[in-house]
Amino acid sequence: MLDILRLEGFRPVDIQSSLGVILIDGEVPTPEIVCCPQCAKPMYRHGYRSIECADTPLEMQPVRIRVEKPRYRCQSCGKTVTVELPFLDEKRRATRRLVEAIRKRCLKRTFRGLAEETGLAVNTIKNIALDLIADLEATVHYETPVIMGIDEVNLAGGYRGIITNLATNSIFDMLEYRTQAHMKPFFEKLPDREKVEWVCTDMWRPFKESFGPFLPNARLVIDKFHVVRMASDALDDERKKHQATLSQSERVKVKKSVRWLTLKRPASLIGSERKALDAVRELIPNLAEAYDIKEAFYSIYDAPDKTSAKQAFSDWESSLPDGRMEKFRKLAKTVHNHYEDIFAYWDAPYRITNAYTEGLNGLIKVANRMGRGYSYEIIRAKALYAEHARKVATGLVPVADTPEGTSTTGRLRKVEYGPYIPTLAEMSEDDGIA
Ligand SMILES: [Zn+2]
Repeated sequence: MLDILRLEGFRPVDIQSSLGVILIDGEVPTPEIVCCPQCAKPMYRHGYRSIECADTPLEMQPVRIRVEKPRYRCQSCGKTVTVELPFLDEKRRATRRLVEAIRKRCLKRTFRGLAEETGLAVNTIKNIALDLIADLEATVHYETPVIMGIDEVNLAGGYRGIITNLATNSIFDMLEYRTQAHMKPFFEKLPDREKVEWVCTDMWRPFKESFGPFLPNARLVIDKFHVVRMASDALDDERKKHQATLSQSERVKVKKSVRWLTLKRPASLIGSERKALDAVRELIPNLAEAYDIKEAFYSIYDAPDKTSAKQAFSDWESSLPDGRMEKFRKLAKTVHNHYEDIFAYWDAPYRITNAYTEGLNGLIKVANRMGRGYSYEIIRAKALYAEHARKVATGLVPVADTPEGTSTTGRLRKVEYGPYIPTLAEMSEDDGIA
């Protein structure tokens, strides 16, 4: 029979197909002499052990192979041995090459899809994936970010801590929850933690109190987008108060909902929206005033340097109306509470923000669509070890002991910074990581 499997150490002798599964019976070469491992005397054939296991699919159908494994017995000491089949995986009822093929695909594809394709149980696919993840954990090393982002995303049923490299736009790590219990061991075990120079995060108290000390050279900068978002929230508060007082015809005049209108920046308003904003100015001057206050707050971030930014904030605060718009007052108070860390924005080597973390939205959508089928651990691995996205943020750096001035063809070390967020987002768009 033609050797259709080309599986070394296995010779097919019969092929059948039933219920969408290809079943191939085969033989394995039998050694001429098997010596007893205990007394070194030749052993005698002593029956068989039947083995059935899965192999890589053929004709888009699962394949199962069946073989009789010969057993041997020692006449003097009674020991029995079974010949080992090198093509079999030790842990699964599958060939080594099938396990290898699944490892290559299990972080990109669904477990269910791979189970259908190979005839293995979903749980077996999952266990192969868990073994792979353990191997990756032990071997993959991402360079500690010099500019680190810490954020929270709602992923797979919980708010997860996302640690990013802001200089390379890549994910450095993902923690099950952004709580002290999860963050503390992360910072304690972080290699090269003295390399971190900047940490960008929201107004998250525990960072400075509990984790700052682990990063002796890091300065904190509060993420711009978390700061300005509070101005948008304050405006939205005002909008809710006023919108209810509008009559039907007034509503039409300012477009059905002023929500999106008040949240947009003036530069992105199109002609008809400008007209609607003008109508807001006429009909609800207080809301227009709140809009201008929000805009003035946003423009603090246009300041070219720290001194003028502080001045812009001070001017903005003095412009707030007395006894109204409490939310903007509250915002001013929050800025004072985090004053140095907010204005550190102008001390950083460039304008550091966590904005691109928004790029993770695609990933989040896919992960949440996958629903309960995947544990947090699997979703984390799918994001953190996505091969295609990892290639982007990979480079060569001179090894530490290379004297300066040596040519770049000298001793170089491959470094990885983690999966590139824009690529990850694209992959999740076409379900590449689902
Ligand atoms: Zn023996």
